[in-house]
Amino acid sequence: MKTLVWFRNDLRTIDNPSLKAAMDAGSNGCIAVFFITPRQWKLHNWGSPKACFQLDCLTALKDELESLGVPLLTRSVQIQEDVPTLVHSCARQYGCQQVHANRDCGIDETRRDETTAGHLATDNIEFTLHDGNSIIPVHEIRSGKGTPYGVFAPFSKAWKKTILERGFPESTKPMPQADIGIRPCSIPDQSSDFPDWSGRGLWSGGEREGLRRLDTFIRNHAGNYSRDRDTPSIAGTSTLSPWLSSGALSAATCLNALIASHGPEFDTWPAGPSTWLNELIWREFYRHVMLGFPQVSMNKPMQPWTELVPWESNPAPLDAWTSGETGIDIVDAGIHQLLQTGWMHNRVRMITAMFLTKNLLVDWRAGERFFANHLVDYDFASNNGGWQWAASTGTDAAPYFRIFNPQRQAETWDPDQTYIRKWLPRTPGSIKPIVDLKQSRQQAIDTFKNARETFEGTADEDGRLVAANGSRNS
Ligand SMILES: Cc1cc2nc3c(=O)[nH]c(=O)nc-3n(C[C@H](O)[C@H](O)[C@H](O)COP(=O)(O)OP(=O)(O)OC[C@H]3O[C@@H](n4cnc5c(N)ncnc54)[C@H](O)[C@@H]3O)c2cc1C
Repeated sequence: MKTLVWFRNDLRTIDNPSLKAAMDAGSNGCIAVFFITPRQWKLHNWGSPKACFQLDCLTALKDELESLGVPLLTRSVQIQEDVPTLVHSCARQYGCQQVHANRDCGIDETRRDETTAGHLATDNIEFTLHDGNSIIPVHEIRSGKGTPYGVFAPFSKAWKKTILERGFPESTKPMPQADIGIRPCSIPDQSSDFPDWSGRGLWSGGEREGLRRLDTFIRNHAGNYSRDRDTPSIAGTSTLSPWLSSGALSAATCLNALIASHGPEFDTWPAGPSTWLNELIWREFYRHVMLGFPQVSMNKPMQPWTELVPWESNPAPLDAWTSGETGIDIVDAGIHQLLQTGWMHNRVRMITAMFLTKNLLVDWRAGERFFANHLVDYDFASNNGGWQWAASTGTDAAPYFRIFNPQRQAETWDPDQTYIRKWLPRTPGSIKPIVDLKQSRQQAIDTFKNARETFEGTADEDGRLVAANGSRNS
């Protein structure tokens, strides 16, 4: 039996169930394939940081797979719709009777997989999807009513119960196979759609670097994580998000590293590791939300009433925000950190996102796109979840009337302005803020309140908007 493993968002060899299954079943060898789809990446708003990191991870994956005797084939694809046919022809060309992949949670990706299964079935080629992109299969977690969770706290409780029932994920590393005489493809250093960018050298893609950083974090920083995680001038978080987003590191590997250090009884862990586990569960939660509530993949808010918020139509506030020139130092410093490094500290992501969507009343989707385009760790589920949280449009979001004061946030989390001075290309306080914080906060509260009241007056019993002519907007 020959098998094909199709890599997507899981560019690693360790704790990769689809690779393990394909290699275990491939008594006559296993071949790996990855489709480079720049057009699709562009459609999904990727920028050079994410695309270049992906290619760097792919290059590293090719070497790791070569040491296991598995050749990695790559195909550049312009039209995403061609992928299912190409998987089929690749499996036929190499005589593979099985294709294995890890489940993706997007709508387009789910459709692509369904089409692929149909194509492969015409030749009796088995297509198996594994759960390798979350610690446990998040689509299986359901409330007592059988519905997906929209709120984090009960999800987290159910997640912990489920993992205790199922047992912790087993750590797996495949054994090398005998040479099957197929040469791997060479990986392009960059794609013409995604030019090189200045921060690329900061992020060394690939599984080994992810594992090295994980080890350093667990040994030196996890213990102080709950104390340091909100101070953006301290290297108190793991900065593992780019590796987790591209799948060069699995969240299961992170959990296993915590267990190796603190034992399996996570309820008894000290605050540091316990809080870090909680963040990994947030990651699982946003994947669960994406699978359970497909509207998030369709550019829609989770809260239908927020469709009535009249977002700012003047482009000037968004322009000031994206160029780090709003005059609010912590916000501008965050944008400059992002533009220079492709990464922004979580506390500052929350501050900048809330300032854009509340004080500037700019549509959260514009911020979501900008982050997607500039983050090296861009991940649809976490980015959408973060933006909908900040904009109060999400499932378990900040209430619309609880608006961060960015200057007070800066005083609390960056009291000596170490972070601001590091990233701001001007003297702090040297430009006048583009909005009055107090006035714009009140305006946001009034605008959201108004939208909610209007909605309550016009929605039907299922929460759908009813237009003046009686037609429904679902
Ligand atoms: C507006 C906004 C946009 C965001 N966009 C992204 C994104 O595109 N990609 C992304 O990976 N994260 C995103 N996040 C979540 C979070 O900011 C980053 O995961 C975190 O800053 C990454 O740094 P770290 O690896 O040092 O995290 P750590 O604090 O070390 O946490 C470990 C891991 O847990 C996960 N995690 C941590 N916090 C969150 C969270 N709030 N939601 C979901 N997962 C989390 C990440 O995978 C992270 O690498 C966003 C948050 C906000 C508020």
